[in-house]
Amino acid sequence: MSLIPDDVIDQVREAADLVGIIGEHVELKRSGSDYRGPCPFHGGTHRNFAVIPKKGMFYCFVCHEAGDVFTFFMKRLGMDYPTAVREVARRVGITIPERGPSGPDPHEPLYSAVAAAADWFARQLREGPEGDVARQYLGSRGLDLETVLPLGLGYAPTGRSFLDAMKSLGLRDEVLLEAGLLIKREDGTLAPSFRGRLLFPIHDPRARVVGFGGRLLGAGEPKYLNSSETPIFHKGRLLYNLHAAKHAMRKAERAILVEGYFDVLRLSLAGIEEVVAPLGTGLTSDQAQLIRRHASHIILLYDSDEAGLRATFRGADELLRERLRVSVATLPPGEDPDTLVQRRGAAGLEAILKDAVDVFERKLQILERKGFLGTLPGRRRALDRLLPTIRAAADPITQELYMSRAAEAAGVRKDVLEREVASRGGGGRETGPAAAPPASRLPPPELPASAEKTLLLLLLSETSARAYEELRAEGLGDRDPNALYERAVNFIEARRLERQLEQIDQRLPFETPEVQASLIAEKRRVFDELRKRYPRYKIAMRRRGAPGT
Ligand SMILES: [Zn+2]
Repeated sequence: MSLIPDDVIDQVREAADLVGIIGEHVELKRSGSDYRGPCPFHGGTHRNFAVIPKKGMFYCFVCHEAGDVFTFFMKRLGMDYPTAVREVARRVGITIPERGPSGPDPHEPLYSAVAAAADWFARQLREGPEGDVARQYLGSRGLDLETVLPLGLGYAPTGRSFLDAMKSLGLRDEVLLEAGLLIKREDGTLAPSFRGRLLFPIHDPRARVVGFGGRLLGAGEPKYLNSSETPIFHKGRLLYNLHAAKHAMRKAERAILVEGYFDVLRLSLAGIEEVVAPLGTGLTSDQAQLIRRHASHIILLYDSDEAGLRATFRGADELLRERLRVSVATLPPGEDPDTLVQRRGAAGLEAILKDAVDVFERKLQILERKGFLGTLPGRRRALDRLLPTIRAAADPITQELYMSRAAEAAGVRKDVLEREVASRGGGGRETGPAAAPPASRLPPPELPASAEKTLLLLLLSETSARAYEELRAEGLGDRDPNALYERAVNFIEARRLERQLEQIDQRLPFETPEVQASLIAEKRRVFDELRKRYPRYKIAMRRRGAPGT
């Protein structure tokens, strides 16, 4: 394992004069904010080799070699990673403690396998015959191939060509399996994990590719698929684009958090580079800590629908626990960062970022707009919504300000609120105000886990507000409540009837022929009713696994 700590590596990378170092090997000329020269890797004579100081990377538009200052030494001079870091450190005058008696990194084969796969996927996107699908898809989203290739995007074809390619590189199946690049089917055969997907490479903070996020092109499920957890890929501890964004985060003194890979892509192509995204899940405390290392202020830029708001407020609480200053930017309804930048450009987005308000103010705005602050029970519920955020605020001054604001808005004495906050330590993980839309609307997505929950959700009234809102957070999807209600009632009734059928079956063998005949008639009657109540009951139960669970 390399004993050089990550933050030292970051420090070295940032201190390095990329243009100067590469300029010792390549004759570079300024071209806008970048530098261009003949590529030392494929021995080109035209100025197709770009050094991009703002991103701390180089890229060749012909042979597509790419990387940071360390990669340059590794690829150009054949150094290993720690040696390259030491060499650059020596030049910038940073002292790195001598190497201890450590062996090689046991995960090195995994990094190599994922890097080889990333190169191969990128080539498929660039020029593979099947990559046409992906090239067209990018085109349809208004993304130019030449601009996305330097970001390492790739394409995983549908067939087995990946297996052959990796074999020809001498990579062993066990390593590819452990790296999450292959999956073992039930019959023991191996298949590529990613098939027919546009791939976004996911880097660790050292800028090594450790996994992929894959957008399916064509019919099927799931639309997005990430690498499975491996010894080097932990999706709760990584952020998409952090390796590239962290320098910009320091410079801009802020980070922008978005939901999706395309949002990140669009913002960074528009020149807003301090942008990161979680990997398709809610923000974790590990991810919040990662952000904290590079910025003290974060702007959440999620969709403005109910699901987006829920994700916003959950994420915000994690970030508050890490003492970050958390703002929320509000997109116009129906827009996401990707579409907004397409429509209004970077300037349009900057305007929205400028209007970002503190997360607590945003919560209050929403509660007020929904009429929570107008009535006494509403105020009580509003406080229940605000308390988790107050408790999450680990910074004492922020917490103090939040309490004053909440006391004022809800018309309670601040000392009463302080006692309430103190009564249940920090870390309350409740849903945001977004989880409680007015009763006249039933928008949130996702189906409840069971018919009983649906029924309960429909039966509960405003008086049992807490339970109601928790269920509401799980939501009905955009289904028709009446149809869902009928289905749920029928499902519960169908389960009762099925239990009746089971009882008859248990009795049957022990009865006299006459009783058996009447039981069979009874069974038919129950079964007919079951089918009437729930025509697809059997199918549904089979899909769900064992009956009665
Ligand atoms: Zn080249």
